[in-house]
Amino acid sequence: MRLEGKVALISGGARGQGAVEARMFATEGARVVIADVLEDEGRQVEAEINEQGGECLFLRLDVTSEANWQDVVAATVDRFGKLDILVNNAGIYRTETVEETSEELWDQVMDINGKGVFLGTKAAIPEMRKVGGGSIINISSVAGLVGSELSAAYGSSKGAVRIFTKATAIQYAGEKIRANSIHPGIIETPMTSELLKDEEHRQYRLNRTPLRRIGRPEDVAYGALYLASDESSFVTGSELVIDGGRTAM
Ligand code: NAP
Repeated sequence: MRLEGKVALISGGARGQGAVEARMFATEGARVVIADVLEDEGRQVEAEINEQGGECLFLRLDVTSEANWQDVVAATVDRFGKLDILVNNAGIYRTETVEETSEELWDQVMDINGKGVFLGTKAAIPEMRKVGGGSIINISSVAGLVGSELSAAYGSSKGAVRIFTKATAIQYAGEKIRANSIHPGIIETPMTSELLKDEEHRQYRLNRTPLRRIGRPEDVAYGALYLASDESSFVTGSELVIDGGRTAM
């Protein structure tokens, strides 16, 4: 198994891509903590993984709170003894243009998508240092690579995640703590399901995706699995683009 003996913490793991990553990581031998603001969904995923023979713990986490992060990392180590892998996956999507974006909306998106990744990384590093290394996987977006006609704050927050990942990679490579970002294109999850119900919008997305399909959470989870495993031990500061060809256009 590709993650045998490892302990992983996945923020926003109650649903969508995070929940699929949690199931996949558990199947590959990791003990998994899922941490999210959504308690009912999180407990459901926890129960499902444990019923299927995996080891999973759900913890409530608001990624914008440093105190919450410290509690969650401490509870992870208390339960499973260590922390090897952090997936900073929690995020929100907003589609306002520059002029439509209020100061409040900007701050909310930056707080969850940007500050949340910083706080998670900061909380995890001391535990990774104790075990001689680790893998931090930050879920950015294609909107963190190229400009979007649909959003201002969202892409800005994801661009911040991209460069924060590289700073982390450089600063901690000497301690074998790796950090990489993943840049998904459009993926069908609860985050996008309403948007994609609109046939016109779905067609707009398909037209901008050379592989002519909407991505599945598994497409991203397989990338996260590679970056979490020792197969990627020479990979840090990189950008894994999983977008059906969207940014190659
Ligand atoms: P999702 O189904 O909405 O999952 C995201 C999870 O994060 C939700 O459970 C959400 O809960 C949680 N969350 C939001 N704010 C939080 C906070 N303050 N603290 C802790 N958890 C919080 O979306 P997804 O599609 O799986 O997205 C996962 C990641 O991929 C996100 O970072 C997203 O930006 C990124 N991404 C998604 C796509 C896509 O097309 N789906 C494309 C590129 C990148 P709430 O219900 O409360 O929001």
